Amino acid sequence: MKKLLVIGSLNLDCVVNVDHTPVAGETIICDSMNMIPGGKGANQACAAGKLGADVTMLGAVGKDMYADIQKSSLSQAGVDISHLVERDKESTGLAIITVNAEGDNSIIVIQGANATLSEKDIDDNLELIRQSDIVIFQLEVPLETVLYAAKKAKEFEKTVILDPAPVPKEFPEELYRYIDIIKPNETELGMLTGIDNPEQHLKEAVDCLKKKGVKDVLVTLGDKGVYLEDKNSETERIPAMKVQAVDTTAAGDSFTAALAIMLAEGKSLREAAIFANYVSAIVVTRKGAQSSIPTLEEVKRYIEQKEMAV
Ligand code: ADP
Repeated sequence: MKKLLVIGSLNLDCVVNVDHTPVAGETIICDSMNMIPGGKGANQACAAGKLGADVTMLGAVGKDMYADIQKSSLSQAGVDISHLVERDKESTGLAIITVNAEGDNSIIVIQGANATLSEKDIDDNLELIRQSDIVIFQLEVPLETVLYAAKKAKEFEKTVILDPAPVPKEFPEELYRYIDIIKPNETELGMLTGIDNPEQHLKEAVDCLKKKGVKDVLVTLGDKGVYLEDKNSETERIPAMKVQAVDTTAAGDSFTAALAIMLAEGKSLREAAIFANYVSAIVVTRKGAQSSIPTLEEVKRYIEQKEMAV
């Protein structure tokens, strides 16, 4: 089985439901807090694990209970966590999230150990990169580290996938040269290319990324599905599944993981995107992040039902 490696962030999301969002100087009382494993890197590794991949996560955590919760979730999903780096001084990354009665979020992110993932950590794990087939990045760890690791992965002739979120103020142009597949959503595509309303100018925006050196581009468009343009300039629009979406958290992350798994199995970009579109459709019908990701069996059953219904 081909090996996937996710290099990125791990957070613990501390979610508090409040009557209203507190204003400056205000103290409010609530009943409880839910602690949910998150972070784009961990979500993608978890999704790959649940979908049956041979996947390893490389990232940094603190020596605290937050890391224990995250590690246990990843292990249960079948992710190899033996390469996680543990910091003495930093806490595991945290997100403090309040959700008010109207459903609006306010989020404070404490980067913690995620901000310490360094070139040295990559050098310490060169053998891991060498043994992997596909390396997946997002941008919640230092950009210099992503750039360095992607360059190494490319030197070892690995397939590099970038989920360019969050888009930094200054995206390092050199990074494009090391990316085989980039998977922005519509907002990220606009930020990367400077094109307003990219959905109306998809081909122009995608070609802009391809000119910078990326081979394949896949744009996720929420309930409007996916647009892709491969290295041979073949384009395809895949409509989203018609579902009752209740929570789109981890839709993009599970899409990236599902895509990587299918590519690892030798499927074409188009076939991989169709599979990922099914996986994300299931994810949006369930509440939660890592907990909403289906197993491979669930996805297979879902696809069978959909195909029988046609
Ligand atoms: P992100 O979570 O990164 O913003 P998107 O919102 O574009 O990403 O969603 C990723 C994928 O999830 C979409 O391309 C689609 O396959 C699926 N998806 C998202 N929202 C819906 C929805 N309302 N109905 C069906 N599929 C959806």
